[in-house]
Amino acid sequence: MPFRIAIDGPAASGKSTVAKAVAKKIGFLYLDTGALYRAMAYAIRQANIPPKEKVLQQFCSSCDLEIRYIEGEQHVFLEKEDISLFLKDEEIGNFASQISTFSCIRQALFDLQRKTGEKNNIIADGRDIGTCIFPDAELKIYLTAKTSVRALRRQKELGLKEPLEEIEENLRKRDRRDKSREIAPLKQAFDAIYLDSSELSREEIIEQIIQYYHQRKGI
Ligand code: C5P
Repeated sequence: MPFRIAIDGPAASGKSTVAKAVAKKIGFLYLDTGALYRAMAYAIRQANIPPKEKVLQQFCSSCDLEIRYIEGEQHVFLEKEDISLFLKDEEIGNFASQISTFSCIRQALFDLQRKTGEKNNIIADGRDIGTCIFPDAELKIYLTAKTSVRALRRQKELGLKEPLEEIEENLRKRDRRDKSREIAPLKQAFDAIYLDSSELSREEIIEQIIQYYHQRKGI
């Protein structure tokens, strides 16, 4: 039976960086579920269709999205083309947050995520991993940080030119949407460990999560 680690939390809380590093250290597969929602957002932009339930339903039924691991790294393929490099920017992230409120989008990505976790020891990060995708995950973390800290991290990480206040406001908006949507909203699972990374270094968080993993494994 594979061991699954679920990390949920708001945007720019450091989930992906930390999850990726932990995966490398303990030899797990890293599943970046945000990249899947971003890929959907990218695909919808490319298809130039309006984000409406009926249209999206039809779109999802024929959309060929695939996860492949190349030298241990997750790549997302749309219609057999690797689109991983197009998914980073904030505009796609914000659009992903909008389209992730549609049930057909969440349904389409549900199976893809579940399948990846079926056979592999996995560490997955997102918004609903511990609550919906792997509700029976062996270890769940809710990773967050103050909005001001997250805004600063995002500014550095993406080299954004906008003033910090604007980045903060965007993050707040995104958090509100992610937390208030009807389906699979962002929230801490009742059995998740709460970790605030505002005052911790990247390495400290990584070490902390590995310790929790060892405790759960009894090693
Ligand atoms: O984590 P990332 O910023 O890449 O995610 C982009 C958007 O995708 C989020 O703001 C959220 O709305 C959506 N998402 C989601 N469920 C997940 C992962 C991401 O709804 N498991």
